Formats: sequence, C-alpha cells, structure tokens
Amino acid sequence: MIVLKTSGELERMREACRLSAQALQVGLDAVKPGVTTWEIDRKIHDFITSHGAKPSFLGYGGFPGSACISINEQVIHGIPSRERVIQEGDVVSIDVGAFYKGYHGDNAGTVGAGEISPEARQLLEVTQQCLYDGIAAAVVGNRIGDIGAAVEARATRYGYGVVREYVGHGVGANLHEDPEVPNYGRAGHGPRLTSGMTIAIEPMINMGTEMVRVLKDKWTVVTADGKPAAHFEHTVAITDNGPVILTRP
Ligand code: MG
Repeated sequence: MIVLKTSGELERMREACRLSAQALQVGLDAVKPGVTTWEIDRKIHDFITSHGAKPSFLGYGGFPGSACISINEQVIHGIPSRERVIQEGDVVSIDVGAFYKGYHGDNAGTVGAGEISPEARQLLEVTQQCLYDGIAAAVVGNRIGDIGAAVEARATRYGYGVVREYVGHGVGANLHEDPEVPNYGRAGHGPRLTSGMTIAIEPMINMGTEMVRVLKDKWTVVTADGKPAAHFEHTVAITDNGPVILTRP
C-alpha cells in the first residue's frame, strides 16, 4: 500500500530529511586516507543523536552501524569497522537515514579519498547524474518504470551495470514503504506516480557487471567482478509542482 503524505506531513518529513542530508555531509566530509569507517560512523551517529533524532539504520534488521559505508567493490550495506582504514584512491559510498518527529529521511552519496582514477571519477559523475535523471522523471502522471528507465538509459550508455537485486523504495513513517523503485524498467509501466508520494530513488551502478553477491558478514553487497560501484540517493516528494528533493542540507 502506498502511503500518500499531506503537505503538513511533508513539512514534518522535510525536517527528518534535512537532518539526514546534513548527517550524510558530515560523513562525506570525513572521508580521507587514514580514517576508519568506524570513525566516520561515530561522527554521523553523534550528529544525528545530538539533534534529537535517531539513526534509521542502527539496529534495523540487526544492522550494527548508524550508516552503511561501502568501499570500492562494495556496493551497499558495508558495516563500519575499526579495522577498515580508508586508503588513497578508494571510492567510498555512505548511506544514512535519520528518524525525526515520526518520519525517516534516507540518502546516500559517493566520494573519492584523495586522488581517484579518471575511470572512478566518471563512474561517480555518471551515477549522480543517473539519480538526477530519475528524479526528473518523478512527475505526476508518470509511472515508476519511467524513473528506472531514465536511470538505466544513462548507465548503459557508459557500459555500466545497473544493480537489479536491490532497489529504491517508498519512505515515510517507515524506512521502507511501497512502492519499490527499481533502477531499471520500462517507461510507461508500473504504479502511477501521484502527488503526496515520497520515494527514495537510489541508483547503484557498477563499473562492470551488474551481478552482485553478499559477503559472509551477511550484509555487505559486493560486485561479482570486484570492480567498483557507486551509489547516490535522495528522498523525493512527488508534488503537483514537480519532484521536490527533501534531502537537501
Ligand atoms: Mg534507501
């Protein structure tokens, strides 16, 4: 069931989303060679809790961190660790949500640590643009398939793999709500987009194959060929005035 939000509910949800966006920025700003992913997670955790909010991911399904921090071939759901030291040239994805006043915000971004390869730079730029292509398609009257088709069209132009096993989602009072928002699809297919829907659009794009697997820790999703991946996400409200990115700092 898709839960539509009133404009008043959207205003409250915007507060959770703003905190989520700021928490993501805290994390991305902390990415540099020599820092552990655990240290970054602490900064994010402290930012969220010091603002009276709760990290959406902490304890979700048993997840031990406040943020998912995924490096290089890790696509999503990387577990923050004292042992994982970020190296020069790493590509680091951070996914974080905050729960505040009854609503979740959810967003993600990917940055390089120090100097990264031109190929990695392009992957990041294209994946971020895939996100904006998807958002541009999130207009009243379109369908969910239009979003995925827009994301997929750009990624495939570069020969990248679009992860199919994990998808975006509705978000609101619950972190994961209907509908699913795949990063692939057929234009004109799927649930119709209506005013008041709030969805997390989150392209997960691999430099190589679209195939992924889960590590023995039961969380970390990695590319099957070991090539890097990127992940960008915004929480977006669909309104009569067009898509509104709620997760802006
Ligand atoms: Mg999400």
